[in-house]
Amino acid sequence: MAATGAELSLVTPWVTEAVESNPPLRGEISADVAIIGAGYTGLSAAVALRREGFEVAVLEANTAGFGASGRNAGHLSPTIGKDLPTLIRLFGDERVRGLIAFTEAAISHVENLIETHEIACDYEPVGNVIAAVHPRQHARIDKAAEAAAKYGLPGELLDADAMRAKGLPRAFTRGYLEPHGGILNPCLYARGLREAAIAAGARIYENSPVMRIEEGEPAVVSTPSGTVRCPHVVIATNAYTASLGRLGSAGMRLQVQLLQTEPLSDEQLARVDWHGRQGVYTAHETLENYRLTADNRIVFGSKKVRYIFGGGNGPDTDPVISEFLESTFRARFPEISDVGIARHWGGPIFLGLDFLPVVGRNRNILHSIAYAGHGLAHASLAGEMIADLLLGRSGHGAALRERRVLPTPPEPFRWLAFRGLDAVLSFIDRRVDRAAASMPRDH
Ligand SMILES: Cc1cc2nc3c(=O)[nH]c(=O)nc-3n(C[C@H](O)[C@H](O)[C@H](O)COP(=O)(O)OP(=O)(O)OC[C@H]3O[C@@H](n4cnc5c(N)ncnc54)[C@H](O)[C@@H]3O)c2cc1C
Repeated sequence: MAATGAELSLVTPWVTEAVESNPPLRGEISADVAIIGAGYTGLSAAVALRREGFEVAVLEANTAGFGASGRNAGHLSPTIGKDLPTLIRLFGDERVRGLIAFTEAAISHVENLIETHEIACDYEPVGNVIAAVHPRQHARIDKAAEAAAKYGLPGELLDADAMRAKGLPRAFTRGYLEPHGGILNPCLYARGLREAAIAAGARIYENSPVMRIEEGEPAVVSTPSGTVRCPHVVIATNAYTASLGRLGSAGMRLQVQLLQTEPLSDEQLARVDWHGRQGVYTAHETLENYRLTADNRIVFGSKKVRYIFGGGNGPDTDPVISEFLESTFRARFPEISDVGIARHWGGPIFLGLDFLPVVGRNRNILHSIAYAGHGLAHASLAGEMIADLLLGRSGHGAALRERRVLPTPPEPFRWLAFRGLDAVLSFIDRRVDRAAASMPRDH
């Protein structure tokens, strides 16, 4: 069932006030481009295509920002692929340069969108730190720092003392600071993009799930109460894409969870001593991410992902994972054992086999999907990449289009592969966590 604006605020803790949804599509209309999905991909596409003079109709099944864009952790970071050393092994020097240029451009583009459209989304350009929770992870941090230095990226390797001096919590024993980017309120950012798209003249139809795309010139896109006839269609549905009956093998839909504490008092904040306010994600195989919010809560999560057989939709949260996240949080932050957990929530990500976004076109149907949980920057640049594709320009997306996208295997092999990989990665992470739990906290 489609959610209303009021329901949106129930699935995301990032906003307290609901926005009124736009009316659904009714009857037959025409446009130059129909965009399916109103997250960062669809909304940035609407902004970029309006700038280029295209008539745009955006069709959103729920309310803009209902998907991962309204619920994510809000780390604006330059992460691309699994990590930089793996990226170099997979793609070699020359192509990695293109991918780094793409991700750096994506961060700058978000900052530009925030400034140009005056989006009030609590953006703090404090950077993000890849952090270790135990010396066993230090070699991984060092390798990330070395790889970044090789490509001239402006990072900083921090030992335990430097971490404290930068204002990072004691849970983290070493880190690599990526200064470009920071943290923001992801739902307010999505709403800001929605406003920017509307102000630019895009027509946004909410509660308008696309049921069918008829290929042809023009293509015909149908919702329960209307159709759009259009020369071009943009698929901007990321983790929900398989439900359109297309591109399902481009990646795996995984469910990710987060938790949020109650606001920390000044005294609790002093105990944590996170005055640098940088976002943090750990060097685990399945990373943990941590950040402070504008009202000084801690948002923490990832760490454990779920895959549902067939890539289907499951409940947003799983109580076993909620409990696991809570116990991990308590282990990392014993100094604030008195802070309450306010809520748990979750959302879907879409992960390709090489962890890179999948951008391209099949005749007049274009797509930008599979951001592997790093779409705040990458999906925000999708609009520019789609405009480049439509206008025959090269642009930053060329670095992504130059590779062959490997299809994920069909079921039951996909499910078995996930289970196998998850077991191995969880085993490695558990060993680190056990070691961290028995480590004295004197650093
Ligand atoms: C818990 C969590 C934490 C995350 N943390 C971070 C982070 O800190 N940093 C980061 O960079 N990335 C993060 N991500 C990833 C990031 O949120 C996504 O990559 C990004 O939001 C993808 O944007 P999108 O517009 O492509 O997809 P979405 O935001 O998912 O939008 C897709 C839209 O399509 C709509 N839709 C689906 N089917 C249809 C249909 N048939 N017809 C019409 N509309 C349809 C959906 O309702 C939805 O609104 C996180 C993701 C999750 C789930």
